[in-house]
Amino acid sequence: MKVIVSHDIDHLTFSEHFLKDLIVPKYFVRTYIELLSGKISVIELFNRYGDLFKNKSQHIEELSQFNKQYNVPPTFFIGVNQGLGLSYSINQAEYWIKRLSALNCEVHLHGIEFESFEKINLEFQLFRRISEQNIIGTRMHYIRKNEHTFSNMAKVGYVFDSSEMSFKAPYKIGDMWEFPFQIMDGYLIEKPKQWQCKNLNQCIDETKKLIDKAHHENLPYLGIDFHDRYFSNSHKTWKNWYVWLIEFLSSQKMEFVNFKQAVEELESKVNHSQKVQV
Ligand SMILES: [Zn+2]
Repeated sequence: MKVIVSHDIDHLTFSEHFLKDLIVPKYFVRTYIELLSGKISVIELFNRYGDLFKNKSQHIEELSQFNKQYNVPPTFFIGVNQGLGLSYSINQAEYWIKRLSALNCEVHLHGIEFESFEKINLEFQLFRRISEQNIIGTRMHYIRKNEHTFSNMAKVGYVFDSSEMSFKAPYKIGDMWEFPFQIMDGYLIEKPKQWQCKNLNQCIDETKKLIDKAHHENLPYLGIDFHDRYFSNSHKTWKNWYVWLIEFLSSQKMEFVNFKQAVEELESKVNHSQKVQV
C-alpha cells in the first residue's frame, strides 16, 4: 500500500472573512470551548490571537518544508470560487498556485461548484486559465456532491477527483479516476463535535485502526487529507498528530506518491491488462 497525502487550503488570511462570513467569531467560540474543556493550552490561545494579529491562517510553507524532510510529495487543493467559508480572492489563489509550483508541490482545484455541468465546467476552465495546467484534479470543499457531480467532473475533463471518503480502491468514471480517501484530520480530532474533543493519544489509536483497516481491505493507496491551517503551534494536537502520522508511515517503510504518480501507475496497469487480453 502506498500513501497519497493531500492538503485542502480553506483559509489564507483572517481579513478575507471580514464582512463576508462568520468564520472568525465562530473560530474563537470554538477556541474557548477547547480551552475550557482542557483540550488546548493558554499558550495555544495566545498563539491563535498572534495569528489574528499577523493576519495569517495558512501554514503552506512550513508544511511543505516538513513534507520535504520525509520525501512526501503532497498535493494541495486551492479554490478559485468562494463559498461555505472559503472566502479568499482569485488574486490570492493565483499567488499561491505559483508559489506552490515553485515549491515543487502539485496543486489542483478545491471545488465549490458541484450541482450543474455548466458551473462545474466554468470553474474547471477558470482554474485551467489561472494555473496554466493541462492535467487537473479536484477535491470538493466539504466533499459536497450529488449523483451527477462525478460524471460531470469526468465530462469537463478532470483527470482525477478525491472527494469520496470510503475504503475503496481508485475506480474510473469515464476517463476520470476517483481516489477515495480514508483519513481526514477533522473527522478524527473533532467528530462528533465541531471543535477539538479528543486528545492526541485518542487520535493516534483511531488512526492506527483506520490504517489496519486499509491494509485488511488490500487498498493500493491510503489517502490522507490534512488541512495546512493546522500545521502550527496554535493547533498543537493537530500538528503533533500529522507529524506522528508521517513519522509512523515512514517507519513502516511505506512509500509516498502524489496523485499524478498514482494516475500514471493505474493507467499503466490498465494498458498492461488490455494488452494481455488482446
Ligand atoms: Zn475545504
